[in-house]
Amino acid sequence: MNFDDLLLVNNTKSKQYYKDVIEKTSLAIINSFNTSLAYKGLSPQDLKKELNQIDILPENGESFDEVLKKVVSKIMPNFLYTSSKGYMAHLHSPALIESIASELIISTFNQSMDSWDQSPVATEIELLVIQMLTKLYGLGDQSDGVFTSGGSQSNFSGLMCARDWYCNTVLHHDVKKKGLPSNYHKFRIYTSQLSHFSVEKTAHILGLGYDAVRKVPVDDKLKMDISMLKIMINEDLAKGLIPMAVVATLGTTDYGSIDDVVSIRDICDKHSMYLHSDAAYGGALILSEKYKDRLKGIELSDSITIDFHKMFLLPISCSAFLVKDKDLFTPYQLHADYLNREEDEEEGYTNLVGKSIQTTRRFDALKVWISFQTQGKSGYATIIDKCISNANTLYNMLDLADVYETIVEPELSSVVFKHRGSDKLNKKIRKILLHENGLVIGQTSFNGKVYLKCTLLNPLVTNYELLHLIKKINEIVIEETKKLKK
Ligand SMILES: *Cc1c(COP(=O)(O)O)cnc(C)c1O
Repeated sequence: MNFDDLLLVNNTKSKQYYKDVIEKTSLAIINSFNTSLAYKGLSPQDLKKELNQIDILPENGESFDEVLKKVVSKIMPNFLYTSSKGYMAHLHSPALIESIASELIISTFNQSMDSWDQSPVATEIELLVIQMLTKLYGLGDQSDGVFTSGGSQSNFSGLMCARDWYCNTVLHHDVKKKGLPSNYHKFRIYTSQLSHFSVEKTAHILGLGYDAVRKVPVDDKLKMDISMLKIMINEDLAKGLIPMAVVATLGTTDYGSIDDVVSIRDICDKHSMYLHSDAAYGGALILSEKYKDRLKGIELSDSITIDFHKMFLLPISCSAFLVKDKDLFTPYQLHADYLNREEDEEEGYTNLVGKSIQTTRRFDALKVWISFQTQGKSGYATIIDKCISNANTLYNMLDLADVYETIVEPELSSVVFKHRGSDKLNKKIRKILLHENGLVIGQTSFNGKVYLKCTLLNPLVTNYELLHLIKKINEIVIEETKKLKK
C-alpha cells in the first residue's frame, strides 16, 4: 500500500496525487455534461442489472483511475442533470458553480461543527453567517440560529422548541427532565392542509402523534384560511384540548402559496401559542426587492426554516433554523466532558453542538458565505425574479389554452396544472416526457385528481423551453388519443 496516496498532507507526492485525482474527476464531470436533456439514462430495471455487475468490495483495491472509469461508464450516464433546462420536477435545484468549489473546500478540510477545537474558523464563520441571516429576516437582538441538514430537520427543531417552550413557560413543566406532561395527548398544532409532511412526522417523533396535527383548510389562493384557524382553535379549546403552536408555510411545496403570518401571529398571541414559519421554499424572496413584501410578517415568527438547497441554488444539504430568542435552544444543551465542557464558553470557545440535534455536522455555512459574496443581493435578486417570472409565463400560457386546467396564480416558482383528459393520460404524459423526451416534470394531486407540476428553479430557462414543453405535451396527447381510438 502506498501511504502517500492516502491523505492530503504537507508532502509533494501526496499533493500531486490530490491534484491528479481532483483534476481527473473534474475533467470526467465536465465531459459528462454532453447533453441538454435532463435524463438520458436507463430504466430502473436495466440500471439494477448494469450496477449488479460491479463487485463493490473486491479483495484488493484498484487504482482510482480504474474505479473512476466505472463511475464514468456506469454512474455518470445515469445521473439526472439538475442544471438541465428540462428539469422542472421537484424543489431540487441545480448548484451554482462556485458552490461546488465550496463543497471541495468543505470536504477537503472536513471540519466538524460540534466543538470549536474541531472547527475553529468554521465555527466563527457559522456564527457570522447566522448573525447576518437573523438580521436579514429581522429577528432582533436576542436571535440565534444553526445550520441543519434540511427543512425537515429545521421544522423538527422548530416544533421541538415549540413543545419545550410551551411545557416550560406556559405549563411550568420541565419536559427535558421529566418527559411529556400527563396531558400531552391534548396538545394541538395547527398547520395548513398543504404544509410539508415533516410537520406530521415531527409530531410523531416528539411523542405527540399525528392526531396532534390539525390541518387547517386553505382559501382560494391556497393560503391557510385564517377564519377557519380561529374556528378550529376555539372548537378545540371548548373540547378541553390545548392549542400550542401554529406552523405557517411561507411557500407550500407544491404551489408556492404563502400563509398570512401577520394574522397568524395575532392569533398565537391571543392564545399563548408558538409560531414556527416554514420558509424552506419561500425564504429566498427576502433577497428580491420586487417580491420580498410577500414575506411580510416573517420577522414575527418565533422560529424560521430556510433551505439554501432550493431557491438559493446551493448543493444539498444546506438549511438554517433561526430563532427569535436564543433561550429557545436551552433544551438542546447537554455537556459532555470529552466534547463541550462548560468552562469552554467562559474562555471564549464556542461549541455549536449546544444548538443542534446533530453532533458531527458539516460546515455548510461556508456555501452561504461564499455564494452570498459572489452573487451579492443583486445577483440573487436576478436569479429569483427570473424563476418567478418564468412561472408566471408558464401559468399564463397554460391558463389561456382551453385544454389545460390551472389551479392558482404562482407566488413563487411552481405551476400546477393538468390536461383536461383523464388521470391516466396525465400520468402517461409525465412518464413519456421522462423516458422519451428527457424532460422531467412533477406529479401531484388536487381534489382527488392527478395534476402535473413544474417547479422552476433554473434561471437559464426561457420562454423557448416553456413553449417546447407545452408543444411536447400536446404531441403526446395527440399520440395517446390516436392509440385509444385504435
Ligand atoms: C422542501 C421542504 C421541506 C423539507 O425540506 P428538506 O430540506 O427536503 O428536508 C419542508 N418544508 C417545505 C415547505 C418544503 O418545501
